Amino acid sequence: MSQSVSRKNVLLRVKLLKRKLPLRVKLAKNRRVVVLGFDGAELSIIEWLMNHGMLPNFEYLKKYGLMCRIQSTIPYGSPTAWSSFMTGLEPEEHGVYSFISKDGSLETSMKLKGKTVMDIVSRSGGRVISVNLPMTYPSWKINGLMISWIPIPLDLNIIEKAVYPSHFIATLLKIGYCFEPNSLLIYESLCRYVNDIFNVEKKRVVLLCHLLRNYEYNLFITVFVGADRLQHIFWKYVEEYLITGEDVKGYARIVLNYYKFLDRLLGRVMDFLDLNERDVLITLSDHGFGPAYRYVSLSKVLTDWGFIKPCRYVREILLSEIISPSIFRKFLTKFSKVLSFLPTLRAIKTKLHFTGIGLVNPKFYKDMTCARLIDFDSIEILDEQRREYILMKLINYLYRLRDPKTERRIIKYLHLCNVHRTEAPDIIAIPMDGYKFHSFGAKWIKNAQIYTGTHTPLAMFASSLSKEIPSTIVDIAPLILRILTGKIR
Ligand SMILES: [Zn+2]
Repeated sequence: MSQSVSRKNVLLRVKLLKRKLPLRVKLAKNRRVVVLGFDGAELSIIEWLMNHGMLPNFEYLKKYGLMCRIQSTIPYGSPTAWSSFMTGLEPEEHGVYSFISKDGSLETSMKLKGKTVMDIVSRSGGRVISVNLPMTYPSWKINGLMISWIPIPLDLNIIEKAVYPSHFIATLLKIGYCFEPNSLLIYESLCRYVNDIFNVEKKRVVLLCHLLRNYEYNLFITVFVGADRLQHIFWKYVEEYLITGEDVKGYARIVLNYYKFLDRLLGRVMDFLDLNERDVLITLSDHGFGPAYRYVSLSKVLTDWGFIKPCRYVREILLSEIISPSIFRKFLTKFSKVLSFLPTLRAIKTKLHFTGIGLVNPKFYKDMTCARLIDFDSIEILDEQRREYILMKLINYLYRLRDPKTERRIIKYLHLCNVHRTEAPDIIAIPMDGYKFHSFGAKWIKNAQIYTGTHTPLAMFASSLSKEIPSTIVDIAPLILRILTGKIR
């Protein structure tokens, strides 16, 4: 028994060593990489728009470089996928599975295991600019500039910790830079939320152009968030428009306009670069997008089946559904006003608008949009044998879970994690297409409401370099290093 365990450990370590990025590399002179991350950008929409001649710059990239799909991580949530992007490691190696860790606190960059591609380039004497990459809060010292992105706690002292070096805050102030659109505006007015998304992204373009024009770098990474935020709400309308050509409410146009905005952004960035000689441009998303027709609360299901103690669930449900979603949302909206007032207070010093994931009750992230993380901590287990029994029972139950309306199976597959790695959930449940896991509800299944889109496991990748085709998001960091060291020309 112990022999097989140690053999397993050795094999695992060999695998990790093989995958691990080097600590230092020899950077080639006159080689630069710019990465534009488009969170949640969906290739099928980009292709549709390209076929209609609406994305000339994406078209250019595809023609002279390459464009393809790449595999995201399991689970295919933003914090997990972007962590794999920057470390070249699988989730079980870097340890980030959600915005929220098992103990209910926000995940931070300090918990991220492995070296990031930014650290390696920095340590090798290269200059790095990293703007708005998830899981980089608190920002840390690199040879260059780092501006954090979500998850970020919401308190008065965050801004200094979100920007390295902190004297760059003055420049952000001048630009009027915002970290994240205020998602609570959804409950006030969709129109205001959409405007906020576009405003935040436009400021990001101003910053990007300022940095490309005035700063030296070997590696430049920046992530745009709008595709993800807009598609979560408007996916249904885009889908309808692509099939029927009808866009009664004009919502589909908002999303398609955002892709055109990304295309113009690509064009502007390419104007700064020398793609024939020195520079390589990479764009990628962290996951794709698809429909969410039905919401499923696995928290409720697991409670009804007796796997989770009802008292936990009741406490959580009290916070949301029983008080009534509208009252809860009104409360959150009020709360957001107070919180947005805090940065306003702080604005005397910084004028930086800020909303982060820290605003939201961590418990709501247990059911992620694309996966349900099941921890045995929430299930009372007496001993190891019983744990195995419960595991088998749970798998059995979950695979038999069916939508009462259609009789369709709901769980696509269950990913069983290495139980000895404490950061990993014990099981990651992935739903069938069209289903979205939803935090809490009095009903365990219901029709989709405000969020009509959800993540899918295939992301997009495009590059001005046609020589190497990555297959997963884990391949990108090693690819960047091979380009920067001149191994690929
Ligand atoms: Zn994402």
